[in-house]
Amino acid sequence: MRLSRYFLPTLKETPAEAQIVSHRLMLRAGLIRQEAAGIYAWLPLGLKVLRRIEQIVREEQERAGAVELLMPTMQLADLWRESGRYDDYGQEMLRITDRHERDMLFGPTAEEVVTDIFRAYVKSYRDLPLNLFNIQWKFRDEQRPRFGVMRGREFLMKDAYSFDVDEAGARRAYNRMFVAYLNTFSRMGLKAVPMRADTGPIGGDLSHEFIILAETGESQVFCDRRLVDMAAPGPDVDWDDLQALVDQRTALYAATEEMHEPARFEAEVGEGDRLSARGIEVGHIFYFGEKYSRPMRAFVAGPDGAERPVHMGSYGVGVSRLVGAIIEASHDEAGIIWPDPVAPFDVALINLRPDDEAVASACEQAVQALEQRGRSVLHDDRDDRPGAKFATADLIGLPWQLIIGPKGLAEGKVELKRRATGERQSVPLEQALEIICA
Ligand code: ATP
Ligand code: MG
Repeated sequence: MRLSRYFLPTLKETPAEAQIVSHRLMLRAGLIRQEAAGIYAWLPLGLKVLRRIEQIVREEQERAGAVELLMPTMQLADLWRESGRYDDYGQEMLRITDRHERDMLFGPTAEEVVTDIFRAYVKSYRDLPLNLFNIQWKFRDEQRPRFGVMRGREFLMKDAYSFDVDEAGARRAYNRMFVAYLNTFSRMGLKAVPMRADTGPIGGDLSHEFIILAETGESQVFCDRRLVDMAAPGPDVDWDDLQALVDQRTALYAATEEMHEPARFEAEVGEGDRLSARGIEVGHIFYFGEKYSRPMRAFVAGPDGAERPVHMGSYGVGVSRLVGAIIEASHDEAGIIWPDPVAPFDVALINLRPDDEAVASACEQAVQALEQRGRSVLHDDRDDRPGAKFATADLIGLPWQLIIGPKGLAEGKVELKRRATGERQSVPLEQALEIICA
């Protein structure tokens, strides 16, 4: 992609309205534009990141056995009356009346819709287990939308819903999502720690929030430091029996503020390992049993023929929040540092002299070679000062910067910079391509 033909509206000044670094950088790097409080347009570069995150989430959901569908953003109020949540949900729900005076709403979540779909088709335990997920825009009329996409009103969420014949099955479904989440966040270069979270009136131990540690996080969390550096289990696990793995991850103390027990924290965690920090919630998994299936009559026949409410859990990931969270975790003074797996392009190709024919042709050659090998390139062919191009490249944070100019080229060399480390090397083009594609 040629930058001269692209749409990358970067800002020089730091936007005054943005309080945290990820919000400032997202505005400055031309990733998003605010259209109303908590409502954003995703500009081309931001959209690419959002799509890559979405794809990682999708792949890990599918690996764990979940099946993708797409539910509508607009929902009927009557479904929420059936579950009993319509009046309880309060002002975060955006309520809308259609031309026939029917009460509708912009979905803040989709337990009711998915239960309605489930009960229309599934009647027997033989069709279980089932886990349905979608990646869809949600709307919550948050009291204080802030920090850019971290707490928006309109935001992209992956929400999965598991259906099982009994609690033991539901626990297996829960464990699969638990492990899928560890792998998902780790693939994005994040260290997300599962923390015990409030299960509300249902009780039990099956609710975890996945938290990324960051000073600007909205949640106060307490955990054993050793959890933070535990590597993700990876895809090669026994997906039918994850209990030992989950037990191992939940044995060490980790709790959000609502669940925190100071006395237990001090008893269980050695002083040097006690971590009390701020965190960003990027995912939340939750077993809630018959909460929706009972009132909405989503019943299945068990092996004995008797009908019973299906056991459900729900599993959310804040897909758009993750864009901000990744930047909070990975940036420096000069701008964003994208982890390779979510970067909007792999390489920033900086053409130092677009009017020089030899340089232009070397750049073309580099683009072709890289794209042939499956790498995406943003080619800065603009007629601008080198300093401005370097600043843009650092700001937008692509993993590699490939710098081609007349001086180096005369010696058969180009410059290659790794954005994350700042490490530079002057090497022949072929060698630079080898390093990038390694
Ligand atoms: P929070 O405590 O941050 O309001 P929540 O408990 O309301 O989150 P869930 O209903 O569990 O969130 O939603 C699943 C995921 O969606 C959350 O873990 C979070 O990553 C994301 N999310 C929730 N609300 C927002 C929002 N207003 N803007 C962006 N992402 C959000
Ligand atoms: Mg909320």
